[in-house]
Amino acid sequence: MKLARIVSNQNGISRRMASQLLAAGRIWVDGSVCRDGNEDISRFREVKIDKDIIQQAEPAYYLMLHKPAGYLSATRDDQHPTVMELIEPELRSHLHIGGRLDRASTGLLILSNDGTWSRRLTEPAVKIPKVYRVTTAEPISPETALRFAEGIWFEYEQLTTSPAQLEPLNDHEARVTIFEGRYHQVKRMFHAVGNRVTSLHRESMGSLVLDPELPVGGYRHLSGSEIRSIG
Ligand code: URA
Repeated sequence: MKLARIVSNQNGISRRMASQLLAAGRIWVDGSVCRDGNEDISRFREVKIDKDIIQQAEPAYYLMLHKPAGYLSATRDDQHPTVMELIEPELRSHLHIGGRLDRASTGLLILSNDGTWSRRLTEPAVKIPKVYRVTTAEPISPETALRFAEGIWFEYEQLTTSPAQLEPLNDHEARVTIFEGRYHQVKRMFHAVGNRVTSLHRESMGSLVLDPELPVGGYRHLSGSEIRSIG
């Protein structure tokens, strides 16, 4: 919400008074004077008029989880365990998933309660690289990298995927980088070239790299620099 609105939402403070308080340097955001009433202030920031708190900062959570196979990227499900069951109960109810993985897929999963932040990971327009280590049923043909780089036609969505990169690791394994996150995207791309994915592991999303210290099923809070690196 705009800072001017947060101030004028207080009982007895008109829009005009809010502008005057801002101009007089009496509005503080996270401990610094802010005079710009147009600044968007999230619920994770503290706002004060002089020494009086008018908006308490809510805690923001940013986690990386090493997703195991067999867990759904969902908040609840009647049939399968969900990744939320791996998170301590006090945090669970606040979190949403920033970029799902299929049930059988493993690796980096990001969870947060800050929707503005996590949307930057998933918005197609932002084109954050997502890197997967892929194992296939059939040997990976030499044309696969070329086909992925040209883009693969997805009949259902009636679109061609953005150019993707494929780095072969051996006959049946490759590192694939995609810049979108469409439904079952990597599996469908291999299917389109006559192959089948047998395992899929996400190594990174943009600058966020799965921590090699994290055991399967474990999670940790992101560091300040990891959080700031997105955006
Ligand atoms: N592409 C897939 O096919 N599955 C995933 O889980 C992620 C990307």
